[in-house]
Amino acid sequence: MAVNVEKYKEIKEELTAKQVILVAVSKTKPNEDIQALYDLGQKDFGENYVQELVDKQAVLQTDINWHFIGHLQSNKVKYIASFVYLIHGVDSFKLLKEINKQAAKCNRVIDCLLQVHIAQEETKFGMDEAELGDVKNNIHELKNVRICGLMGMASFSDDVEKVRGEFRYLKSLFDLCGEWAMVNGQWTILSMGMSGDYQMAVEEGGTMVRIGSLLFGTRNYAQ
Ligand SMILES: *Cc1c(COP(=O)(O)O)cnc(C)c1O
Repeated sequence: MAVNVEKYKEIKEELTAKQVILVAVSKTKPNEDIQALYDLGQKDFGENYVQELVDKQAVLQTDINWHFIGHLQSNKVKYIASFVYLIHGVDSFKLLKEINKQAAKCNRVIDCLLQVHIAQEETKFGMDEAELGDVKNNIHELKNVRICGLMGMASFSDDVEKVRGEFRYLKSLFDLCGEWAMVNGQWTILSMGMSGDYQMAVEEGGTMVRIGSLLFGTRNYAQ
């Protein structure tokens, strides 16, 4: 098994001391690996692909908090709406409306994070400040979603000051949006930081990190 139990314990302890929530990113990894961390007390797991998440959720423990951290297509929301714990990557009002609709069908309120485009790379999804403003103006229509905070992915770069600057920018938006988000519930989650940059993300004020390869080993195919 590729799960690094020692590393898990070390990271978990470090983050718990700082009151940061650890999401173990298990995409592409087998159920046994998830089970191994679950047995150590880990409850929050992150997945990127709808079908893979549905398959895993069907057979693993029912008290796992399943985080959807990938790019979610509107037409697939219905497959995860009944059980998903937190959707990190909401990057349009259209998607938010669909989540709201599917949540209503399940009699649920689904917690969501708005994804902000902070990296300079073109390939990363996310909203800009204007789009965040649009959500703000229309959120009162949606009763079955609760926006709990923001999520972002920094550039894959060796330039640590650049990465730090991106996290800092996201944190400033998080603070700025705090007041308007109160309208729609709580505003407590700033999801930023992955295996390569989580410590910096926490230093810059992140309250939730998404860590995969440090815990489960490198993945077999590129994400
Ligand atoms: C895959 C992924 C992660 C985890 O990446 P690691 O570098 O393996 O820790 C975190 N966040 C998102 C959005 C991902 O897609």
